[in-house]
Amino acid sequence: MIGLVDCNSFYCSVESVFRPDLAGKPVVVLSNNDGCVVARSAAAKELGVEMAAPWHQVPAALAAKVSVFSSNYPLIGDFSQRVFNTLSSFAERIERYSVDESFLEFAPGPRWDELGATIRQTVRRNTGIPVSVGFASTKVLAKVANKIAKKTSSAAGVFVLEEVAVDAALAALAPEDIWGIGGRLGQRLRANGVRTALDLKHLDADVARRLLTVVGQRISLELQGIPCLSIEEVAPAKKSICTARSFGRPIETLEDLREPLASYVSAVAEKLRKQGSVAGRMQIFLHTNPFKPAERQLCPGRECVLSTPTNFTSALVGRAQEILTSLWRPGYRWHRVGVVVMDLVPERTEQLAFDSPPIELMERRRRAMAAMDRVNQSFGRGTLHVGSAAANVHTSAWKMRQASLSPRYTTSWSELPEVGI
Ligand SMILES: [Mg+2]
Repeated sequence: MIGLVDCNSFYCSVESVFRPDLAGKPVVVLSNNDGCVVARSAAAKELGVEMAAPWHQVPAALAAKVSVFSSNYPLIGDFSQRVFNTLSSFAERIERYSVDESFLEFAPGPRWDELGATIRQTVRRNTGIPVSVGFASTKVLAKVANKIAKKTSSAAGVFVLEEVAVDAALAALAPEDIWGIGGRLGQRLRANGVRTALDLKHLDADVARRLLTVVGQRISLELQGIPCLSIEEVAPAKKSICTARSFGRPIETLEDLREPLASYVSAVAEKLRKQGSVAGRMQIFLHTNPFKPAERQLCPGRECVLSTPTNFTSALVGRAQEILTSLWRPGYRWHRVGVVVMDLVPERTEQLAFDSPPIELMERRRRAMAAMDRVNQSFGRGTLHVGSAAANVHTSAWKMRQASLSPRYTTSWSELPEVGI
């Protein structure tokens, strides 16, 4: 049996944990730079706040009724981990599918509705986050069960999709409602007479393969209750890593661009080390603001080959700054800078070049980076950083606009919630 546990309105629920006064109230969370609505509480949905709506276009009368928060990534990341830790005690095999969803695999036996209720209560007690639980025989059907658990008030947040009930449930869903079928595949299916998820289940195997490739064929089999997608306990190492952010205000000079770039490249280097990879190629890009059509527009980018693949922060930052110098042009108001690293291979298997540093030096660099990562892990990000990067991206002059940021209640000593008598 597969269980899918999904946090309800996760970003909004996280904001409500230390603000019990917000329970049941309309709450929204905004994207980077307070741009668009990325999460809505149930009450905000009822009021008519649209998903992905640009916040500045939401009518003032409506906005006034809603509590607004900027995306608080440290808080969200910490609660994601807390929920996952609690769920890990319920199943031996668990896949963290996204920031707010996990698949759990169970041996046959228990009363599933009771287990689901226990999972809900335990996560709520341990973390304060409400979740919905769907049980079924495959991952794709567990997604369907979870959807029903959320939509049906009589389900009380738990739904067990028994085999006999599968067809009725699928007949009520469109093909696009099924996990893995996007809008484009949905259109292709409709054009071929597949109108419901039940039609998709009964699609002939050869037709499914022709219309949807092997991925779609697996989805069709999963709908029939034949497991094709296994629980992936270890996330596969990323093949490329990208960090790009918009600035809170436009930047014009080359010197002012250096600090955000060094900070983003440092973050990427840390991610590389975390997954044990080195990068063989790096791309840097700059953007002006496409939403300001009256301003001159330019989006230059350039990539370089790293003859010795690396995850050494100083080496990557140095090359990135060289590329930035070649990209920058005067007279533009820059809105965004980003970095992508590619051609990732596991550390210590990289091909060395004639101009590679001596092995002893590379080893010393590895130890220095390991020490830096440990210090930053213990004492907070940015405690140790390369000189050109910002110590704290949250207080730098180019920081994202986060006008409605809540405290980092659980990851910053100075922002702990206070309890008074
Ligand atoms: Mg969710």
